[in-house]
This record gives sequence, structure tokens and C-alpha cells, in this order.
Amino acid sequence: MEYTARERDADFLMNKVFKIQENWSQIDAYSELSSDLVKAVLAEGGRLAAEVMAPLNEVGDAHGCQLEDGEVTTPPGFKEAFAELTQGGWLGLSGNPAFGGQGMPKSLAGLIEEMFWAANSSLFLYGSLTVGACLSIDAHGSAEQKRIYLDKLYSGQWTGAMALTESHAGTDLGMMRTKAEPRADGSYSITGTKIFITSGEHDMAENIVHLTLARITDGPRGTKGISLFIVPKFVPDDVGALGPRNGWSSGSLEHKMGIKGSATSVINYDGAQGFLLGEEHQGLAAMFTMMNYERLSVGLQGLGAGDLAYQHSARYAQDRVQGRAATGAQNPDAEADTLLVHPDVRRMLLTQRAYTEGCRAFAFFAGMQLDEAKHKGDERADRFGQLLTPVVKAFLTDKGLEGAVMAQQVLGGHGYVKEWGVEQIVRDARIAQIYEGTNGIQALDLTGRKVVRDGGKTLAELLQVLAGFDIDPDFKEPVDQAFARLLRVTQSLVARSNEDANLAGAVATDFLDLMGMTLCAWAWGVMTQCAGTDDFGEAKKQTARFFFARLLPRAVGLEESILADSDVLMDMPEALFTA
Ligand SMILES: Cc1cc2nc3c(=O)[nH]c(=O)nc-3n(C[C@H](O)[C@H](O)[C@H](O)COP(=O)(O)OP(=O)(O)OC[C@H]3O[C@@H](n4cnc5c(N)ncnc54)[C@H](O)[C@@H]3O)c2cc1C
Repeated sequence: MEYTARERDADFLMNKVFKIQENWSQIDAYSELSSDLVKAVLAEGGRLAAEVMAPLNEVGDAHGCQLEDGEVTTPPGFKEAFAELTQGGWLGLSGNPAFGGQGMPKSLAGLIEEMFWAANSSLFLYGSLTVGACLSIDAHGSAEQKRIYLDKLYSGQWTGAMALTESHAGTDLGMMRTKAEPRADGSYSITGTKIFITSGEHDMAENIVHLTLARITDGPRGTKGISLFIVPKFVPDDVGALGPRNGWSSGSLEHKMGIKGSATSVINYDGAQGFLLGEEHQGLAAMFTMMNYERLSVGLQGLGAGDLAYQHSARYAQDRVQGRAATGAQNPDAEADTLLVHPDVRRMLLTQRAYTEGCRAFAFFAGMQLDEAKHKGDERADRFGQLLTPVVKAFLTDKGLEGAVMAQQVLGGHGYVKEWGVEQIVRDARIAQIYEGTNGIQALDLTGRKVVRDGGKTLAELLQVLAGFDIDPDFKEPVDQAFARLLRVTQSLVARSNEDANLAGAVATDFLDLMGMTLCAWAWGVMTQCAGTDDFGEAKKQTARFFFARLLPRAVGLEESILADSDVLMDMPEALFTA
């Protein structure tokens, strides 16, 4: 499936909008990072995405993964492409240099991840889970665990997976039953069944390292009794050489709507040897190191899907001729005008583009917060990163799917049939709203844990920092109004939550949407201020005009909706839902 990596937009964000070199020069770990090197990384990442990964996107969908005699086979070509991805060091791009990672900024890695997700989300899933496993081992592992696992994972010789979900315990992990019994040698025997495990078993690496949540015998009930374990497919010795096959296997592969090239397994642990990662009973916190990364990354999956769909539909609309412009024929020599003469087609294309480019900008800003928190120990940046994570995850994946469906609409019936590829983008994009914590749970995390709990303080601080950016005078007023609206709504939410325990949950999704819209408004105000007068800059300005005139007004409706109390949802008796 054809895909063009957005190197120009990446360069624009880094160098014009956020002047990232100034920022990086203040961080020791990045001070040597020249703009030439960054350009080369983006160009090579873009090439890999467009030339190696994208051509396999349809292949993965058509062939899917197969399970035979306990072995999972990935689609043709995946192994070779994954080898190219790993040999280039891409999984360790922002990894710890002490263990073979390249130590590059998360903000830069995010731009690359978007390209990989867009090009082939099924294939990149094998990489993304590996990157997340590395983060968790790096943050919580013993010196020995880091030595044994990290460089093999960064290099892709081994891959990672995260095993949380059980059939009766998805969102509510406190109910999980997988157990861990201490062994005499200090390791544990893991027994239980996990479902939906992405990259849990496959044929692309010599070892697969599961980070598995389980309950140590006699541990406390609920989430407090859960611990995290490294449960490798082959148990390595103390120099990392592969030892015996461990006691887990893939019981079956899930049959899915999309991402068919990604192997999603039921994993049966049958007394498998596991090694405690971090502290006993602190497993959820350790797992969250991985999940927070995965959440940002999955947001970029949504962004990539939206952009891929946009690229297809924009090209299609330029070529396809149907009907005549309302103002008279634009191309009288042809049988009809292109789809682009129709305002409604433009509405769909500009909506896709406005969200894609706005979201890319604020996701990059979120990545910058992670870099600052990590290297400058900046406590405020850490809070900003935490606050933005659920918005990046949910808003970008919601808009990604919405954009993909709009792209499908632009193609009409040709969007519904397989031949043009857009229906695959829709099917592949859908999962991003569900895994890594559903978008409903992201919204609840935002309103409940990140906003109401601190009385809206971090959000107010963030808006103050954002207001300090240079904003295009043409859009300053709507951006100011959007900030004022979000603050007003936040204050009301915080105040009313004292009396209404269901309120945060009742308005969560609308609140997250409002915050995403506000961040997009800010991003467009800041981007157009830096946009030049060439075609690239002109397209930015036109898209911004559309965003402020046609999309931002939806924030007014969201504010009104959030003003409703939870009773409009909660008063209906349970029995009436099936009446
Ligand atoms: C293709 C695929 C790949 C996956 N990969 C992995 C993986 O690699 N590792 C892994 O461990 N898991 C994985 N998952 C599992 C995934 O993360 C879960 O499906 C998801 O977290 C939701 O859990 P659930 O399906 O049990 O839904 P449920 O928890 O039953 O939720 C159902 C609905 O109720 C809502 N809900 C539930 N609880 C609450 C609450 N407290 N407040 C408000 N709303 C609530 C949810 O938002 C959702 O809309 C994968 C799933 C799929 C389909």
C-alpha cells in the first residue's frame, strides 16, 4: 500500500515550530545531536517505512498468521522486513545507550514510530511491544536482568510481549487469576491463561520475552497483590545464551477484524519459569512503565492510520471525475470535474488533514515533555507528559478511525471494496481505540486521576505554558477562547465532582474530546505563525482556516454537554436497558 513518510512536516515541527535544537542543546544526552543526523534518521526511517514495510501491508492482511503444532508463522516477507527494521537499530532508537540503545529523544522516536505505524501497523506491533518491554526492564530490572535482556531486545534478536488480559479480567486487572508460586531458586512457577497477547508467539525472533502479570501465592487480593514477571520462551543463562524451552505455549490465535499480520495469541502458562521484575506486589506500577509508552505509541498508530487514509483519499479525489462544480464546469474538455470541486468532498479531506496535522504537533509536544522529564528531572514536564498521555492515546486513535472512515467515504463504493485498500485501513485502525486501555478508560484516567484529583492545577499550568507560545494573530482570539472554555469547564467539573461521584465518568469522553480540540486549536495557531509562503505553508494556512471555522465550533457543544450532571445517564434503571 503506497505511503509517503511526512519528513517535511517532521522537519517543520522540529525546526520551525518547536525549535528543538535549542531545547536539545540544554540536555546533555542530546547536545551532540546535529540537525544533519536528525535529518538522516528521518530520511532513513521514511525510506524503510515506504519501501520495506508499506509494500507488505496488504500481504499481511491477506495471509494473516497461522498456528500449526504450537508454532506461529507470520505472513510472507514479514520476517525479512522485521530483520531490516531490527538490524538498522530502530527498536533501540530511544533506548538506554548503556545497554546498546541509541539514546535518541522520545520526541524524535515518536515521529519515526508514526511512519512505521502508518506503513504497516501489524508489522510494527512486533517492534512496539519490544520497545515497551525494554522500558520496563530498564526502569525496574536488576542489573543482571538489564545485562541479559536489554541489548538482545534493542537489537530485535529477541522480542517482547505484555501479558495482562485474562478472559474474565480485561480492564479490571484486580480480578486476574494467573498465579506465581515461589521456587526454591528464587524464581517462580507461572500458571494460568492469558488471552489477546500481541506478539506472544511468532517466528521472527529466536526468543520471545513475556512481561506477565500474576498473583504470588497468598498475595493480597485486588490490584495490590499483582506482581510482574519476565517469562521468556527460552530461559537464558547468565550470559544470555538460550537455555531450555519454557513452559508456555500459544493455545490458539484470535481471529480478528483487522491487524491480521499481527499474531494475537491465547497463551497457556503451565508452570513456566518466571523471574520477578521489580518488587513483589508492585507489578501494576512496573507494568505501567510499559503501558504509558504503549499508550503514546498507540496514539501514533491512530495518527499514522489517519494520515495513510488521507494520502489515499486525497490522491483519489484529485484523479476521480464525477459531476460538475456548482459554479460551472472547471474542466469543460473532460467528461466531468474532479471530486475536488465538491465542497462536501473538501470538507472530508480538510477534516482529516486538520486533525492529522494538529494531532501530530501536540503529540510531538508530549514527546518533548517525556524527554525533559527524563533528562532534566523536570517534575512539571513529567506531570504534563502524564496529563497528555491519555489525550494522545484516545484523541489520536478516535480521529484516526474517523479520518479513515471519511477517506472511505471519499472513495464511495471503491472505499468499501478491497481493491483500493482503504477498507483495510479502517479495519486496522479500529483496534487502537480498544487495546492499551480502551478510550473510555483513557478518558476516565484524564478526568478522574489527572484533572479532578489535583483540582485542575496541572491542566491550568499546561494552558499557561501553551499560551506563552507565539500564536498567529489571525487565530489568537479563538485560541484564547478555547483555553478559557477548557478552564471554565475544568473548574466546573472539579467543583461539581464533590457532589456527584459519577460525574467524572459521565463526562469523561466529552472532556477528553474538548481537550483534544483545544490542543489542536493551539497547534494550528502556533503552526500557522511559523508557516512560510510556499505551497507547504499555504496548505497549512488554508487547513487552519477550515479548522477554526468549521471544526473548533464543536467545542461549544461539548461544553454544553459537559454541563449536564450524571443523572441523565444514571437514573435509568438497569433493567430498562433491555426493556
Ligand atoms: C487485537 C488485540 C490485541 C491485544 N493485545 C493485548 C496484549 O498484547 N496484552 C494484553 O494483556 N492485552 C491485550 N489486549 C486486550 C485489551 O487490552 C483489552 O481487550 C482491553 O483492555 C479491554 O478489556 P476487555 O476486552 O476485557 O473489555 P472490558 O474490560 O470488559 O470492557 C468492556 C467495556 O466496558 C468499559 N469499562 C470496563 N470497565 C470500566 C470502568 N471501570 N469504567 C468505565 N468503563 C469501563 C470499557 O471501556 C469497554 O468499553 C488486546 C486485545 C485485542 C482485541
